Amino acid sequence: MTQTLNSTESLSYDRNDWKKGYLSQPNEYDYWIDDIEGEIPPELEGTLYRNGPGLLEINGQAIRHPFDGDGMISAIRFTQGRAHYCNRFVRTQGYIEEQKAGKILYRGVFGTQKPGGWLANFLDLRIKNIANTQVIYWAGKLLALWEAAQPYRLDPNTLETIGIDDLDGILKPGDAFAAHVRIDPNCGGQPCLVNFSIKPMLSTTITIYEISTAGKLLRKHAHSVPGFAFIHDFAITPNYCIFFQNPVKFNPIPFVLGLSGAGESINFESGKPTKIIVIPRNFDRKTGGVKVFETPSGFVFHHGNAYEEENQIIIDSICYESLPQVRPNEDYRETDFTLLDPGELWRFSLNLTSGTVERNRIESRCCEFPTLHPNFVGRPYRYLYLGAAHSPEGNAPLQAILKVDLNSNQRQLWSAAPKGFVSEPVFVPRPNAIAEDDGWLLTVVYDSQYHRSDIVILDGRDLTQGALARLHLKHHIPYGLHGSFVKA
Ligand code: FE
Repeated sequence: MTQTLNSTESLSYDRNDWKKGYLSQPNEYDYWIDDIEGEIPPELEGTLYRNGPGLLEINGQAIRHPFDGDGMISAIRFTQGRAHYCNRFVRTQGYIEEQKAGKILYRGVFGTQKPGGWLANFLDLRIKNIANTQVIYWAGKLLALWEAAQPYRLDPNTLETIGIDDLDGILKPGDAFAAHVRIDPNCGGQPCLVNFSIKPMLSTTITIYEISTAGKLLRKHAHSVPGFAFIHDFAITPNYCIFFQNPVKFNPIPFVLGLSGAGESINFESGKPTKIIVIPRNFDRKTGGVKVFETPSGFVFHHGNAYEEENQIIIDSICYESLPQVRPNEDYRETDFTLLDPGELWRFSLNLTSGTVERNRIESRCCEFPTLHPNFVGRPYRYLYLGAAHSPEGNAPLQAILKVDLNSNQRQLWSAAPKGFVSEPVFVPRPNAIAEDDGWLLTVVYDSQYHRSDIVILDGRDLTQGALARLHLKHHIPYGLHGSFVKA
C-alpha cells in the first residue's frame, strides 16, 4: 500500500534535515554530559548501550547502504542523577584493515562495492563482520552483534575491542549468531538468553541456542526449512521460537559476478504467502514437532512480542506490504518516503489445533523498533512502545515515540518533529515498580537544527507530559540500530 501526501507543506520533516543524520561520526568521545534540560531521575542507574553504523563512508568512498556501516558503540552511563557519554568503534578486522588502507576493501552485504566496477568485485564473496546491529551484556561479556558472523567482545567500561568471541566454545568457526537475542525472564527460575543463527541456501538451516546466565549452553538444536530464508528477528514464548519466512527469492548470480550486493539480489515475491515457522524450545516437553503456518504475503524485520494463550500463539510484529529496499543506482539518502510502504503493527494469532492464522492490524501509523518491559518477553503483556512517524498516515521517518495500550487500545505519542528524528526506544523498569508501564523510555534523538544528538528520557506511564530530561550531546550519533540497558 503506497500512500502519497498532497503537498510537501503537509510533511512533518524536511528530507535535507533527515539526511544529515546519516553523516559519519569518525570521532571518539568521553565526557560527562552537562548540557541538560529537565532532570535525570535519580533512581535511573545503569548504562544504555547503543550500536549502529558510525561510518557511512571510508575516506570519502560512500557505502551503499547504512546497514553496511562499521559498528560504533555508544555508552550512556547514568549514576546519581548524572550521565556520562563514551563512544568507540568496534575494531573489527575489516575496520582496522580499511582504516589503514584508507579505502573500501570489502563488499557489503547490502550493496557496498569495492571501487573499480564489477571486475574489482567479481567472485569476491568474503564477508566483513561489521558488528553494527546490537550490543548486549550477558554472562559477564559485552558483545557487539551482527547477524552473519560471531560477536565481537568489548570491555564494558572502556568499550575497547577485545576480539571475536565464540561464547566459550558454543560457536564453532564460521558460525553466525543473530543480532536479535531474546532474554526469557523466567527459564526455570532464572533468565536465559535465546538466540538463533541462519544458514540460508536452497534450503535454510535455523539453529537455536539457549544460554544460561553463567554462559553455559542449555540447549542447541538445528532445523532445516525448505527454500531461501532472510530472517532478521524472531520471537519467543516459554515453549516456542517463532520465525517469519517472508516470500523472497535470492538470485546469487549478479552478486557472484560482482554486479550487485547480496542484499540487492533478494527479490520479494508478493504473490506468495509468508510462512510462520514455530519450533518448540524443548523437545522433551509435549509441544509436538515443528509447525508451519501460512499467512498472506508481507515482509517482517522485527517482532514486538509473542505469548501463549490456550491453544494459540499470539505474535505482534511490524509488517510491510513488501521488502523495503534500496535498488541499484538509488541513493538511500534520497529516499522518497512517500513512495514506500509504511511499517505497521499487526497481531497474528496462530491456532495450534487448526493450523490457521488470523491477522489483525493494530496500528496503521508508520512504526518500527518495538520494545517492551523486559519481564514480559514471551508473556501476555499490555504495553508496546515503538518509534513512529509524526503523522498518523503515510510513510515517513521516525520522529516520535508511540505507546500502544493493547488492552484499552489507547495511544500516547511524544514527537520530536519537525527537527528531531528518533531511534529505537529502550524501556527501563523503575526499581521496585509494580505497574508494567512504570519505568523510563530512553531514546537517542537526532536534532537536525543543531546537528547533534540528544538522549531523551520519557516517563513510560505518560508520554504526553513531555520529556523528563533531554541530554544534549556535543555532537551527533548517526542513526543507530539497536541497544540495551544494563543495570549498574
Ligand atoms: Fe533489527
